[in-house]
Amino acid sequence: MKKLLPTSIVGSLPKPVWLAPPEKLWSPWKLDGDQLLEGKQDALRIALHEQQLAGLDIICDGEQTRQHFVTTFVEHLSGVDFENRKTVKIRDRYDASVPMVIGEVARQKAVFVEDAKFLRKQTDKTIKWALPGPMTMVDTLYDAHYKSREKLAWEFAKALNEEARELQDAGVDIIQFDEPAFNVFFEEVNDWGMAALERAIEGLHCATAVHICYGYGIQANTDWKKTLGSEWRQYEEVFPQIQKSSIDIVSLECHNSNVPFDLIELIRCKKVMVGAIDVATNTIETPEEVADTLRKALKFVDIENLYPCTNCGMAPLSRNVARGKLSALSVGAEIIRKEFAV
Ligand SMILES: [Zn+2]
Repeated sequence: MKKLLPTSIVGSLPKPVWLAPPEKLWSPWKLDGDQLLEGKQDALRIALHEQQLAGLDIICDGEQTRQHFVTTFVEHLSGVDFENRKTVKIRDRYDASVPMVIGEVARQKAVFVEDAKFLRKQTDKTIKWALPGPMTMVDTLYDAHYKSREKLAWEFAKALNEEARELQDAGVDIIQFDEPAFNVFFEEVNDWGMAALERAIEGLHCATAVHICYGYGIQANTDWKKTLGSEWRQYEEVFPQIQKSSIDIVSLECHNSNVPFDLIELIRCKKVMVGAIDVATNTIETPEEVADTLRKALKFVDIENLYPCTNCGMAPLSRNVARGKLSALSVGAEIIRKEFAV
Protein backbone atom coordinates (compact mmCIF):
# COMPACT_ATOMS: atom_id res chain seq x y z
CA MET A 1 0.00 0.00 0.00
CA LYS A 2 1.19 3.48 -0.77
CA LYS A 3 2.52 5.29 2.28
CA LEU A 4 0.12 7.88 3.63
CA LEU A 5 1.26 11.47 4.19
CA PRO A 6 4.47 11.52 2.16
CA THR A 7 6.64 14.27 3.61
CA SER A 8 8.83 16.77 1.78
CA ILE A 9 10.21 20.29 1.97
CA VAL A 10 9.27 23.13 -0.38
CA GLY A 11 12.77 23.33 -1.81
CA SER A 12 15.71 25.13 -0.30
CA LEU A 13 17.87 24.23 2.66
CA PRO A 14 20.65 26.37 4.17
CA LYS A 15 24.01 25.98 2.44
CA PRO A 16 27.16 24.90 4.28
CA VAL A 17 29.29 27.84 5.41
CA TRP A 18 32.20 26.81 3.17
CA LEU A 19 30.00 27.10 0.08
CA ALA A 20 28.18 30.39 0.66
CA PRO A 21 27.74 32.70 3.68
CA PRO A 22 24.65 31.44 5.53
CA GLU A 23 21.37 33.01 6.54
CA LYS A 24 20.92 35.37 3.63
CA LEU A 25 19.39 35.42 0.16
CA TRP A 26 21.55 35.82 -2.98
CA SER A 27 24.52 34.71 -0.88
CA PRO A 28 27.67 34.76 -3.06
CA TRP A 29 29.62 31.55 -3.74
CA LYS A 30 32.88 31.13 -1.83
CA LEU A 31 34.41 28.82 -4.44
CA ASP A 32 34.83 29.01 -8.19
CA GLY A 33 35.55 26.88 -11.24
CA ASP A 34 35.86 23.14 -10.68
CA GLN A 35 35.98 23.62 -6.93
CA LEU A 36 32.59 25.31 -7.05
CA LEU A 37 31.08 22.48 -9.08
CA GLU A 38 32.48 19.92 -6.65
CA GLY A 39 31.40 22.00 -3.66
CA LYS A 40 27.82 22.27 -4.95
CA GLN A 41 27.65 18.51 -5.48
CA ASP A 42 29.01 17.85 -2.01
CA ALA A 43 26.43 20.22 -0.54
CA LEU A 44 23.70 18.46 -2.52
CA ARG A 45 24.85 15.11 -1.07
CA ILE A 46 24.60 16.56 2.44
CA ALA A 47 21.13 17.99 1.77
CA LEU A 48 20.00 14.61 0.48
CA HIS A 49 21.50 12.79 3.45
CA GLU A 50 19.84 15.09 5.97
CA GLN A 51 16.41 14.69 4.36
CA GLN A 52 16.78 10.92 4.31
CA LEU A 53 18.07 10.84 7.88
CA ALA A 54 15.05 12.84 8.99
CA GLY A 55 12.85 10.28 7.24
CA LEU A 56 11.39 12.48 4.51
CA ASP A 57 9.68 10.60 1.70
CA ILE A 58 10.05 12.97 -1.24
CA ILE A 59 13.57 14.22 -1.68
CA CYS A 60 14.85 17.38 -3.36
CA ASP A 61 18.25 18.95 -3.92
CA GLY A 62 17.84 21.56 -1.16
CA GLU A 63 18.61 24.04 -3.98
CA GLN A 64 22.30 23.70 -3.13
CA THR A 65 23.40 24.40 -6.68
CA ARG A 66 21.48 27.67 -7.03
CA GLN A 67 22.21 31.09 -5.73
CA HIS A 68 18.56 32.11 -5.93
CA PHE A 69 15.42 30.26 -6.98
CA VAL A 70 14.64 32.70 -9.81
CA THR A 71 17.85 34.36 -10.92
CA THR A 72 19.86 31.16 -11.32
CA PHE A 73 17.38 29.94 -13.93
CA VAL A 74 17.34 33.31 -15.66
CA GLU A 75 21.15 33.41 -15.83
CA HIS A 76 21.01 30.55 -18.30
CA LEU A 77 18.69 32.31 -20.74
CA SER A 78 19.74 34.54 -23.59
CA GLY A 79 18.31 38.06 -23.79
CA VAL A 80 19.05 38.93 -20.17
CA ASP A 81 21.72 41.38 -19.05
CA PHE A 82 23.22 40.56 -15.66
CA GLU A 83 25.82 43.36 -15.70
CA ASN A 84 23.48 46.32 -15.87
CA ARG A 85 21.07 45.65 -13.09
CA LYS A 86 18.04 47.65 -12.08
CA THR A 87 16.47 48.08 -8.70
CA VAL A 88 12.80 47.21 -8.75
CA LYS A 89 10.16 46.53 -6.15
CA ILE A 90 9.41 42.82 -6.21
CA ARG A 91 6.10 41.23 -5.09
CA ASP A 92 4.99 44.87 -4.59
CA ARG A 93 6.98 44.68 -1.37
CA TYR A 94 10.75 45.06 -1.32
CA ASP A 95 13.50 46.53 -3.49
CA ALA A 96 15.95 44.16 -5.11
CA SER A 97 18.73 44.63 -7.63
CA VAL A 98 17.66 42.46 -10.55
CA PRO A 99 18.86 41.58 -14.08
CA MET A 100 17.39 43.33 -17.11
CA VAL A 101 15.64 41.75 -20.10
CA ILE A 102 17.20 43.40 -23.17
CA GLY A 103 16.22 41.08 -26.02
CA GLU A 104 14.25 37.97 -26.88
CA VAL A 105 14.58 35.45 -24.08
CA ALA A 106 15.33 31.86 -25.00
CA ARG A 107 16.75 28.78 -23.31
CA GLN A 108 19.96 27.99 -25.15
CA LYS A 109 21.00 25.12 -22.91
CA ALA A 110 19.82 22.96 -20.04
CA VAL A 111 19.87 24.68 -16.66
CA PHE A 112 19.41 22.10 -13.89
CA VAL A 113 19.28 18.87 -15.87
CA GLU A 114 22.79 17.69 -14.91
CA ASP A 115 22.09 18.50 -11.25
CA ALA A 116 18.84 16.55 -11.41
CA LYS A 117 20.62 13.55 -12.98
CA PHE A 118 23.16 13.75 -10.17
CA LEU A 119 20.40 13.72 -7.53
CA ARG A 120 18.59 10.87 -9.34
CA LYS A 121 21.73 8.74 -9.15
CA GLN A 122 21.99 9.19 -5.37
CA THR A 123 18.55 7.99 -4.29
CA ASP A 124 15.73 5.63 -5.22
CA LYS A 125 13.14 7.74 -3.46
CA THR A 126 10.64 9.98 -5.21
CA ILE A 127 12.42 13.18 -6.22
CA LYS A 128 10.99 16.64 -6.69
CA TRP A 129 12.56 19.53 -8.57
CA ALA A 130 11.56 23.17 -8.16
CA LEU A 131 11.55 25.74 -10.93
CA PRO A 132 10.40 29.34 -10.72
CA GLY A 133 6.93 30.01 -12.12
CA PRO A 134 6.61 32.32 -15.14
CA MET A 135 4.81 35.12 -13.27
CA THR A 136 7.29 35.12 -10.40
CA MET A 137 10.16 35.25 -12.93
CA VAL A 138 8.62 38.30 -14.59
CA ASP A 139 8.27 39.91 -11.19
CA THR A 140 11.95 39.35 -10.33
CA LEU A 141 13.38 41.16 -13.39
CA TYR A 142 13.37 44.51 -15.12
CA ASP A 143 11.92 44.21 -18.62
CA ALA A 144 13.35 46.69 -21.14
CA HIS A 145 12.38 44.62 -24.19
CA TYR A 146 8.86 43.16 -24.23
CA LYS A 147 7.33 45.92 -22.09
CA SER A 148 4.55 43.47 -21.32
CA ARG A 149 4.49 41.19 -18.30
CA GLU A 150 2.14 38.85 -20.11
CA LYS A 151 4.33 38.45 -23.22
CA LEU A 152 7.46 37.98 -21.16
CA ALA A 153 5.71 35.38 -18.97
CA TRP A 154 4.69 33.47 -22.09
CA GLU A 155 8.30 33.36 -23.33
CA PHE A 156 9.48 32.21 -19.91
CA ALA A 157 6.78 29.54 -19.86
CA LYS A 158 8.13 28.11 -23.12
CA ALA A 159 11.68 28.02 -21.72
CA LEU A 160 10.42 26.44 -18.49
CA ASN A 161 8.54 23.80 -20.44
CA GLU A 162 11.70 22.81 -22.33
CA GLU A 163 13.57 22.53 -19.04
CA ALA A 164 10.74 20.62 -17.34
CA ARG A 165 10.56 18.04 -20.14
CA GLU A 166 14.29 17.36 -19.79
CA LEU A 167 14.03 17.16 -16.00
CA GLN A 168 11.23 14.63 -16.42
CA ASP A 169 13.41 12.60 -18.79
CA ALA A 170 16.22 12.77 -16.23
CA GLY A 171 13.95 10.90 -13.80
CA VAL A 172 12.37 13.70 -11.79
CA ASP A 173 9.01 12.50 -10.40
CA ILE A 174 7.47 15.83 -9.40
CA ILE A 175 8.19 19.21 -10.98
CA GLN A 176 7.17 22.14 -8.84
CA PHE A 177 6.74 25.73 -9.98
CA ASP A 178 7.24 28.38 -7.32
CA GLU A 179 4.68 31.15 -7.76
CA PRO A 180 4.70 33.43 -4.69
CA ALA A 181 3.58 36.17 -7.10
CA PHE A 182 0.21 34.36 -7.35
CA ASN A 183 -0.50 35.61 -3.85
CA VAL A 184 -0.08 39.24 -4.84
CA PHE A 185 -1.26 39.90 -8.41
CA PHE A 186 -4.67 38.21 -8.47
CA GLU A 187 -6.02 39.93 -11.56
CA GLU A 188 -2.95 39.01 -13.54
CA VAL A 189 -3.15 35.40 -12.35
CA ASN A 190 -6.65 35.18 -13.72
CA ASP A 191 -5.81 37.12 -16.90
CA TRP A 192 -2.63 35.33 -17.95
CA GLY A 193 -0.65 33.93 -14.99
CA MET A 194 -2.48 30.64 -14.84
CA ALA A 195 -2.39 30.28 -18.62
CA ALA A 196 1.38 30.81 -18.57
CA LEU A 197 1.73 28.16 -15.89
CA GLU A 198 -0.36 25.75 -17.97
CA ARG A 199 1.98 26.46 -20.89
CA ALA A 200 4.96 25.61 -18.65
CA ILE A 201 3.52 22.17 -17.79
CA GLU A 202 2.22 21.35 -21.27
CA GLY A 203 2.86 17.75 -22.31
CA LEU A 204 4.39 16.63 -19.01
CA HIS A 205 3.40 13.21 -17.70
CA CYS A 206 5.26 13.44 -14.38
CA ALA A 207 3.40 15.00 -11.46
CA THR A 208 3.29 18.81 -11.37
CA ALA A 209 3.00 21.16 -8.42
CA VAL A 210 2.59 24.86 -7.80
CA HIS A 211 3.93 26.44 -4.62
CA ILE A 212 2.18 29.60 -3.44
CA CYS A 213 3.28 31.18 -0.20
CA TYR A 214 3.81 34.37 1.76
CA GLY A 215 7.55 34.30 1.16
CA TYR A 216 10.78 33.50 2.94
CA GLY A 217 11.19 34.54 6.55
CA ILE A 218 12.82 37.87 5.73
CA GLN A 219 11.91 41.20 7.35
CA ALA A 220 10.05 42.65 4.33
CA ASN A 221 7.77 39.62 4.24
CA THR A 222 7.20 39.59 7.99
CA ASP A 223 6.26 43.29 7.85
CA TRP A 224 3.91 42.65 4.92
CA LYS A 225 2.18 39.83 6.74
CA LYS A 226 1.44 42.22 9.62
CA THR A 227 -0.65 44.33 7.22
CA LEU A 228 -2.79 41.42 6.04
CA GLY A 229 -5.15 41.37 9.00
CA SER A 230 -6.49 38.50 11.02
CA GLU A 231 -7.62 36.38 8.06
CA TRP A 232 -5.41 35.87 5.04
CA ARG A 233 -7.80 35.10 2.20
CA GLN A 234 -5.40 35.60 -0.72
CA TYR A 235 -5.63 31.95 -1.75
CA GLU A 236 -9.35 32.39 -2.29
CA GLU A 237 -8.63 34.65 -5.28
CA VAL A 238 -6.65 32.06 -7.23
CA PHE A 239 -7.88 28.67 -6.02
CA PRO A 240 -10.87 28.53 -8.39
CA GLN A 241 -8.47 28.84 -11.35
CA ILE A 242 -6.10 26.28 -9.87
CA GLN A 243 -8.98 23.88 -9.28
CA LYS A 244 -9.78 24.04 -13.01
CA SER A 245 -6.14 23.69 -14.06
CA SER A 246 -4.19 20.54 -14.84
CA ILE A 247 -1.75 21.10 -11.96
CA ASP A 248 -1.71 18.00 -9.74
CA ILE A 249 -0.39 19.34 -6.42
CA VAL A 250 -0.73 22.67 -4.62
CA SER A 251 1.87 23.63 -2.00
CA LEU A 252 0.55 26.05 0.64
CA GLU A 253 1.60 28.02 3.70
CA CYS A 254 -0.52 26.96 6.68
CA HIS A 255 1.26 26.65 10.03
CA ASN A 256 1.44 29.91 12.06
CA SER A 257 -0.27 31.75 9.25
CA ASN A 258 -3.71 33.34 9.29
CA VAL A 259 -4.87 31.40 6.26
CA PRO A 260 -8.32 29.94 7.06
CA PHE A 261 -8.04 26.19 6.57
CA ASP A 262 -11.46 25.97 4.97
CA LEU A 263 -10.07 27.67 1.84
CA ILE A 264 -8.43 24.32 1.06
CA GLU A 265 -11.94 23.07 0.28
CA LEU A 266 -11.75 25.17 -2.92
CA ILE A 267 -9.13 22.81 -4.36
CA ARG A 268 -10.82 19.61 -3.22
CA CYS A 269 -9.63 17.38 -6.10
CA LYS A 270 -5.99 18.40 -5.86
CA LYS A 271 -3.22 16.92 -3.80
CA VAL A 272 -2.18 19.47 -1.18
CA MET A 273 1.28 20.01 0.25
CA VAL A 274 0.28 21.47 3.60
CA GLY A 275 2.88 23.76 5.15
CA ALA A 276 3.19 22.49 8.70
CA ILE A 277 6.56 24.10 9.37
CA ASP A 278 6.96 27.87 9.77
CA VAL A 279 10.13 29.04 7.98
CA ALA A 280 9.93 32.56 9.43
CA THR A 281 10.91 31.58 12.96
CA ASN A 282 13.89 29.86 14.54
CA THR A 283 11.58 28.10 16.96
CA ILE A 284 11.44 24.43 16.05
CA GLU A 285 7.91 23.07 15.99
CA THR A 286 7.08 20.14 18.21
CA PRO A 287 5.86 17.03 16.37
CA GLU A 288 2.51 17.54 18.13
CA GLU A 289 2.21 21.05 16.64
CA VAL A 290 2.90 19.60 13.19
CA ALA A 291 0.28 16.91 13.80
CA ASP A 292 -2.20 19.54 14.93
CA THR A 293 -1.79 21.53 11.68
CA LEU A 294 -2.24 18.35 9.65
CA ARG A 295 -5.40 17.48 11.61
CA LYS A 296 -6.86 20.90 10.81
CA ALA A 297 -6.08 20.45 7.12
CA LEU A 298 -7.57 16.96 7.12
CA LYS A 299 -11.03 18.46 7.54
CA PHE A 300 -10.70 19.84 4.02
CA VAL A 301 -8.40 17.42 2.19
CA ASP A 302 -8.68 13.65 1.95
CA ILE A 303 -5.82 11.87 3.68
CA GLU A 304 -4.67 10.26 0.40
CA ASN A 305 -4.17 13.76 -0.98
CA LEU A 306 -2.35 15.29 1.97
CA TYR A 307 1.41 15.81 1.66
CA PRO A 308 2.97 17.31 4.82
CA CYS A 309 5.49 19.99 3.87
CA THR A 310 7.12 23.25 4.97
CA ASN A 311 5.57 26.70 4.43
CA CYS A 312 8.38 27.80 2.11
CA GLY A 313 12.12 27.36 1.54
CA MET A 314 14.51 27.19 4.48
CA ALA A 315 17.53 28.85 2.82
CA PRO A 316 17.68 31.81 5.24
CA LEU A 317 17.62 29.63 8.40
CA SER A 318 20.57 28.19 10.30
CA ARG A 319 21.43 24.59 9.50
CA ASN A 320 20.67 23.40 13.03
CA VAL A 321 17.23 24.94 13.00
CA ALA A 322 16.50 23.52 9.55
CA ARG A 323 17.56 20.03 10.68
CA GLY A 324 15.29 20.27 13.72
CA LYS A 325 12.38 21.31 11.53
CA LEU A 326 12.92 18.41 9.10
CA SER A 327 12.77 16.00 11.98
CA ALA A 328 9.67 17.62 13.53
CA LEU A 329 7.87 17.36 10.17
CA SER A 330 8.68 13.70 9.85
CA VAL A 331 7.75 12.73 13.42
CA GLY A 332 4.60 14.88 13.31
CA ALA A 333 3.38 13.13 10.15
CA GLU A 334 4.01 9.76 11.81
CA ILE A 335 1.69 10.72 14.68
CA ILE A 336 -1.18 11.13 12.21
CA ARG A 337 -0.28 7.95 10.30
CA LYS A 338 -0.58 6.02 13.57
CA GLU A 339 -3.95 7.59 14.29
CA PHE A 340 -5.19 6.43 10.90
CA ALA A 341 -3.68 2.93 11.09
CA VAL A 342 -6.24 0.30 11.88
ZN1 LIG B 1 7.61 29.98 -0.81
